[in-house]
Amino acid sequence: MNINHKQAPPVRNVIIVGGGTAGWMTAAALSKYLGKTPVTITLIESEQIETVGVGEATIPAISQFNSILGVDEFEFLKATQGTYKLGIEFENWGHIGESYFHPFGVHGFDLEGIDFHHFWTRHKELGSTEPLQNYSLNTRAAHMGKFIRPEKQHGSVINRLKYAFHFDALLYAKFLRRYSEARGVTRHEGLVDKVDVRPESGFINKIGLKDGREYAGDLFIDCTGFRGVLIEGALKSGYENWHKYLPVDRAVAVTTARTDTPAPFTRATAYDAGWQWKIPLQYRDGNGYVYCHDYLSEDQAEVDFRARLTGELLKEPKHLRFTTGRRKKLWNKNCVAIGLSGGFMEPLESTSIHMIQSGISKLIALFPSRDMPQTEQDEYNRLLHDDFSHIRDFLVLHYVATRRDDSPLWNYVRNLKLPDSLAYKMELLAGNGRFFKYDAELFDVTSWLAVAAGQGFAPKGYNPLVKGLSDSNISQSLANMRDVIEKAVTAMPPHIDFVNRFCKAGPVHV
Ligand SMILES: Cc1cc2nc3c(=O)[nH]c(=O)nc-3n(C[C@H](O)[C@H](O)[C@H](O)COP(=O)(O)OP(=O)(O)OC[C@H]3O[C@@H](n4cnc5c(N)ncnc54)[C@H](O)[C@@H]3O)c2cc1C
Repeated sequence: MNINHKQAPPVRNVIIVGGGTAGWMTAAALSKYLGKTPVTITLIESEQIETVGVGEATIPAISQFNSILGVDEFEFLKATQGTYKLGIEFENWGHIGESYFHPFGVHGFDLEGIDFHHFWTRHKELGSTEPLQNYSLNTRAAHMGKFIRPEKQHGSVINRLKYAFHFDALLYAKFLRRYSEARGVTRHEGLVDKVDVRPESGFINKIGLKDGREYAGDLFIDCTGFRGVLIEGALKSGYENWHKYLPVDRAVAVTTARTDTPAPFTRATAYDAGWQWKIPLQYRDGNGYVYCHDYLSEDQAEVDFRARLTGELLKEPKHLRFTTGRRKKLWNKNCVAIGLSGGFMEPLESTSIHMIQSGISKLIALFPSRDMPQTEQDEYNRLLHDDFSHIRDFLVLHYVATRRDDSPLWNYVRNLKLPDSLAYKMELLAGNGRFFKYDAELFDVTSWLAVAAGQGFAPKGYNPLVKGLSDSNISQSLANMRDVIEKAVTAMPPHIDFVNRFCKAGPVHV
């Protein structure tokens, strides 16, 4: 180890290639964090290549991102046609005709220092048929179409409401572009078709546009989406293919006119070759059918998808292809892949924008000097790889914990060979309801239990320490919890009233 460490010179300029959600989120965050340094930030995007633009559902961490930027929540929702999201309603996943809700926030209240769900399992053993989701404030509010923003001064159970947003990803990128340009980010329009790599170091020296312009940089951020123009095209960083675990690989998406009141949750309905989302925005719905091409052609997917849509189509359906997995090196030399260029695990739990956020926050924590220390690259890759693996396991849980046997897709996933990490976690959970988060793992016991119990694989046993409370005490405590939750939800305003009052957007031209 070198103890006479002398810091290498700092990065002077950052070049971001790509102006989708990832590009503009990165530009906005760097403009905020690097604002007081002499580092220049340049973003290059090409109007010839469309953004994916269908990432519209999020998880609660997005609020932290916006608040770090100093973005007002209501202004953001007005600018992006946004609504609130309390969780996801899963239909037909355990079995056709069944549904359950995966809420943000927690189930019930812990008692005597022991997780709530152990008492719920014991209560079931005593004969209760009350589903887990009736102990979730988020679920009850979602099902009753209610929402209120928790404010600390309420001093009530409402503080436990956790929320994220649905929004128009294209409008979000525009919103962040205005934010970034106001803070000194320079945008150039053009198609990158040359990447000049220094032969001696393997570092990217400069990129060239089709019209001949060139941009040299110290640090390059690849936000070019599935293309991975820098990270793969130039640096050949490799891709770990997870098709065997997450076999969906196609999507067809379209926006439709609203036919009902926007619900404060996403809908994910399983069909024989995949699943379909419905994401309610203020003036329209986002819809998409994610499916596995091994079992369904693109043409047939569109026919099936169209037949299930309710509102008038506002555009022609857009087809997308992807390979689930992660980049082997998300940080390679002086290039960092953020967004789809770094990997994609399918949109089932709306985790992709979160992964952008995770990549940005780790880049800021490890913001490099010009020599790009190898150990820091390795640490970045380790952290991001862990994020990917934890989320992958949770996504796979939705598929393996099915009892469906009505189509080749469900027969495949029901029997797939689990990653060891997932097999271990499922065994702990299915036995006596044991669950522990590893490192900075994203999804906690609420999420794992919601999916497992919702699909008919609730834990068989519980922590024996619950017997420290008498049976009648457990029954009474659980009844009180339901009562507190019902009263709180009854007092909340309808979600749409809250949106109309505080963050109603103007009409948009679609
Ligand atoms: C079917 C589907 C559904 C999804 N749903 C969700 C969801 O609900 N929630 C969620 O969090 N995420 C979701 N995602 C993921 C989400 O859409 C992406 O994470 C997000 O949009 C970021 O994309 P991106 O910016 O990395 O790439 P893109 O949107 O593809 O943007 C790439 C950018 O790079 C530019 N570019 C490419 N090549 C070049 C070049 N050679 N020169 C110059 N510029 C170039 C393009 O012009 C574009 O600006 C979904 C993804 C898919 C496929």
